[in-house]
Amino acid sequence: MESPMVIPINNIRREVRSLKINIQRVMEDIRTISSIRPEGSFGSTRFSYSEEDRHAREYVIREMTGAGANVWTDSVGNIHGRIVGTEKEKSRVLVGSHLDTVRNGGPLDGLLGVAAGLEILRVFQEEKIKPVRDLEIIAFSEEEGSNFGATMLGSKCLAGKAGLEELRRLKNDEGITAYEVMKKFGLNPDSIEEDLFKPEETYAMLELHIEQGQVLEDSGASLGIVEGIFGMTNIHITLKGIGNHAGATPMGLRRDPMAAAGRIIGKIPEWVNQIGSTQLVATVGKIQAYPNASNVIPEKVAFTVDIRDMEAGFIGKMESRIREELERLGKEGIQIQMETIATSPSVSLSREIGDILKEEATAMGISNRNMYSGAVHDCAMFTDMTKVGLLFVPSIGGRSHVPEEDTKEGDIGAGISVLLRAVCRVVME
Ligand SMILES: [Zn+2]
Repeated sequence: MESPMVIPINNIRREVRSLKINIQRVMEDIRTISSIRPEGSFGSTRFSYSEEDRHAREYVIREMTGAGANVWTDSVGNIHGRIVGTEKEKSRVLVGSHLDTVRNGGPLDGLLGVAAGLEILRVFQEEKIKPVRDLEIIAFSEEEGSNFGATMLGSKCLAGKAGLEELRRLKNDEGITAYEVMKKFGLNPDSIEEDLFKPEETYAMLELHIEQGQVLEDSGASLGIVEGIFGMTNIHITLKGIGNHAGATPMGLRRDPMAAAGRIIGKIPEWVNQIGSTQLVATVGKIQAYPNASNVIPEKVAFTVDIRDMEAGFIGKMESRIREELERLGKEGIQIQMETIATSPSVSLSREIGDILKEEATAMGISNRNMYSGAVHDCAMFTDMTKVGLLFVPSIGGRSHVPEEDTKEGDIGAGISVLLRAVCRVVME
């Protein structure tokens, strides 16, 4: 039996494994872009469609162009840089992350994945690698929701999960719509339809991102191969009691919704333990008392609970425990209301891409582990349309969205090297 393909594939793997990245160049990209910030701010503040964003874009576009890519910016501001493959009829491979930050954020969130893309383009140019498939590097805009409070807006629009209606509805703090902000920035959101992601045109998508948690650091691994992203349910609870004077109302005669809320919130960690999922997390991150005065028993307390897990069943169990406790409070005279305000299902990433990432990491002798992500990233928008791989590097101290956000240079190098090798294999398929 003839099988001529076996030899070339082995050749590709051998050649791919001799490729080297230039970490100094990558660190320079990160230093330069992360230090673009408004006067008087600290860390990285680079909101999409701002002056800082414009400077960062110029840098990214210059680097992409210099590395031989055809570069364009789409209707909502995502930057694309494409190297054309040798086989026209084959679909492209996408690699990237986001270019924007939160206010006073860190240097690596999003930018690491963009800088990795730039370095991959430069290695392709230097090594004269001719991919079979088109290789497209992408820098997504407005992932953090810093302007309009809606996360992953750039990738969502591309994926068709947000559109003109959303852009006309979402507003920034000054009351200006996303649509207007984009127009003012020189974009043309009206042509959003033309940019829509077409599943048949894409073979795979890969993203490198910092973990933003402490799982990798604690485990001592340099790389995390993400198998799936947690599903999430966000519930809003309102408890109503009787508002009254803090001094004149004896303890036995109160209907205090704050004390009731405290009972629920205090029990959440215990319930998470009892439910027995190793992944389940639940968070009360927002609470509001009415009227919110130090000498008044509040008449009403409202808070949110964010619950995440890979399995919807565990999220459901947590919701039931909360509901049971609320019913108990109801019998004690507190009026209760529980409303689900947002849900997103968990997503599984491509086993095939995950295996390639793992093979390349292992071949380089880089410690790695499979894991789940509690946070959602741009690539998650495309899991229903293409094969998606997500690679994590450790965050020192698990810290992110703060100026102290950092990753060891060795881990950054490991992440980009493994990404490069995986991308090389996928674009040759
Ligand atoms: Zn990010």
